[in-house]
Amino acid sequence: MSAFQMETVLSVTHWTDTLFSFTATRNPGFRFQNGQFAMIGLEIEGRPLMRAYSMASANHEEALEFFSIKVPDGPLTSRLQKIREGDIILVGRKATGTLIAGNLIPGKRLLLLSTGTGLAPFASLIKDPDIYASFETIVLAHGCRQVSELAFGELLIEGLQSHEFFGPLIKDKLIYYPTVTREPFRNRGRITDLIASGDLFSDIELSGLDRDSDRVMMCGSPAMLEELHTMLTERGFVEGSHSAPGHFVIEKAFVDR
Ligand SMILES: Cc1cc2nc3c(=O)[nH]c(=O)nc-3n(C[C@H](O)[C@H](O)[C@H](O)COP(=O)(O)OP(=O)(O)OC[C@H]3O[C@@H](n4cnc5c(N)ncnc54)[C@H](O)[C@@H]3O)c2cc1C
Repeated sequence: MSAFQMETVLSVTHWTDTLFSFTATRNPGFRFQNGQFAMIGLEIEGRPLMRAYSMASANHEEALEFFSIKVPDGPLTSRLQKIREGDIILVGRKATGTLIAGNLIPGKRLLLLSTGTGLAPFASLIKDPDIYASFETIVLAHGCRQVSELAFGELLIEGLQSHEFFGPLIKDKLIYYPTVTREPFRNRGRITDLIASGDLFSDIELSGLDRDSDRVMMCGSPAMLEELHTMLTERGFVEGSHSAPGHFVIEKAFVDR
């Protein structure tokens, strides 16, 4: 049995010059936990070219969704960005990853901190009804350079707000905090700076970072993750894993090569 399944592209949306998302069929046997990633890719000259991708769809959804960067000379994404409805992509059979609720000890507030395509695993998690049962408040922060890069997330939130089931569920629980670094916008600055200064919390009228009640999941650039890791460990937060749940968990949105 091949390690990959062939799935058919159902739709493709180009958000900016550097970002696109797509949906694809999902083999009913492909199981994952919300927040996990799998290897996906294309067959190039008879061989699979695969990269890690977080599922942006939730595990209760019929189709798979991915939110992708377009790296101009990237081996995979220079090709993947050209896919169209009806094309075939490869999806690894095994999902994995640390951004799962079971890796956190119980808490009251869940902070989902992301930059760029690091939003993808949280797009999945905020469609998980169990998350709303486990936490009183969920804050989804998404940092980008330009306002246009927020579009995928903004539409996702609007869709949930008007959704028959999720609308009432998220109304008083999910706080969406988009922020931009290079253009005027209602929230400005890097997530790390906004947390360090406390501005993120005052902007949404909530109390500051608190180890006893806050649990954190983060997915972004290696630099952002390193900074947040230092900030949290200095405050006594302990990193969680499959073997020992903790106060926070980390996943790289990409690896610098
Ligand atoms: C756990 C994990 C989950 C991932 N999930 C996603 C996802 O959901 N969506 C996604 O687009 N990518 C994701 N990636 C990155 C992905 O695996 C590839 O790196 C990306 O698709 C580019 O592939 P490539 O072959 O075109 O270029 P690569 O050779 O893989 O990358 C070239 C360079 O492009 C930059 N880069 C790569 N990916 C990104 C990115 N996402 N954002 C900003 N810069 C980047 C890096 O500097 C990298 O060195 C994930 C990576 C990891 C480790």
